[in-house]
Amino acid sequence: MELQKKLEILSDAAKYDVSCSSSGSSGRGDSSGLGNTKASGICHSWTDDGRCVSLLKILFTNYCLYDCQYCVNRVSNDRSRASFTPEEVAQLTVDFYKRNYIEGLFLSSAVNRSPDWTMEQLLTTVQLLRNKHNYQGYIHLKAIPGADFKLIYQAGLLVDRMSVNIELPSEGSLEKLAPQKKKAGILAPMKGIGAGIENNIIERKKYKQKEKFVPAGQSTQLIVGASPESDRQIISLSEGLYDHFNLKRVYYSAYLPVNNSSLLPALPGPPLKREHRLYQADWLLRFYGFKAGELLTPGRENFDLKIDPKADWALNNLDKFPVEVNTADYEMLLRVPGIGPRSAAKIVKARREKKLTHYNLKKMRIVLKRANFFITCNGKYAAAVPFESEVIYSRLAEKEAEQMSLFNSTKSEAKEWDFNLVK
Ligand code: SF4
Repeated sequence: MELQKKLEILSDAAKYDVSCSSSGSSGRGDSSGLGNTKASGICHSWTDDGRCVSLLKILFTNYCLYDCQYCVNRVSNDRSRASFTPEEVAQLTVDFYKRNYIEGLFLSSAVNRSPDWTMEQLLTTVQLLRNKHNYQGYIHLKAIPGADFKLIYQAGLLVDRMSVNIELPSEGSLEKLAPQKKKAGILAPMKGIGAGIENNIIERKKYKQKEKFVPAGQSTQLIVGASPESDRQIISLSEGLYDHFNLKRVYYSAYLPVNNSSLLPALPGPPLKREHRLYQADWLLRFYGFKAGELLTPGRENFDLKIDPKADWALNNLDKFPVEVNTADYEMLLRVPGIGPRSAAKIVKARREKKLTHYNLKKMRIVLKRANFFITCNGKYAAAVPFESEVIYSRLAEKEAEQMSLFNSTKSEAKEWDFNLVK
């Protein structure tokens, strides 16, 4: 099979994997014109320092032994199949890199022949890239669950980031929808990579020359909506992964119904709003000091789709508000809807000089649209509505609906692309 054809098949097969931030851009026209990178599997991802980088995002092979119900590449699907060789992937990456098309590689794979065989192919690919081609660009590699950890570890010494996808948020759903995969088989490599990263950081402090192991950290992906787990279960799982497995990121992927299966739910479309709420909640876990058990509690199983999780938490804890900006500690300021780490830090710094008023906050460019409902300045409450839960809820829901309508009109192209996948 020609390399171009393989690239078409294996970049298309990789587009459902969101664990490198972007599942591809829609591009213009029919993908055949100049400048359209979609057909070649070039996607965009963001580094920790906020830079946008282009990645060649491909599967090594889409031949798969397994029959995961939700997956387009499952063995029982009749579709075009292809496999690269390690040298082909290495050469493609180097060629694209030299032409400035990409700044890195995201390489995943279905499980062909055996987990060990597949992982060996991925390892050989990254060895060729680093050792033969002297490629020093970014590599994000998928680790294959069930493969010998020695292979995964060797690959971890050559790549920047690794991920092992959990996909389904509970053991019961895994048994039902992906029975060939086992929870222990997925968690074991994640645990090994997490421990490897931690040990490597300690060793590198002692021995500066020690080679790096997965320096950009590990990530995973959870599918939202293919199985019945609630947001509370999903976000608690994410918290456990951050706390115990040294995860850098958990990605959430709204379930796209690409297969017919009586085991899967019939949804009108991918639950994108739910995915968005989980990302917001995930952000609160990582940067705002929230615990999963504060955001959702037994009986409150899912995030409100009309207001964001932070506002939802504030309304459920209204006895802690309004917060006086001149005296509240930094951690409490961070919990005010609309105030982020930068604004909270600005407030703490500025109030050392003088007592802050609403006017001062505006001059400091702190956005008060949402925060106004939850703060006082020098004892003054300046929201145009009474401090009552129902009233504030409906105002916040209105504001979010306005924002979303603006967002939707500018993103209509992306939305079209999402729903094309469902057809
Ligand atoms: S292992 Fe499952 S999810 Fe992965 S490619 Fe194969 S069928 Fe798809």
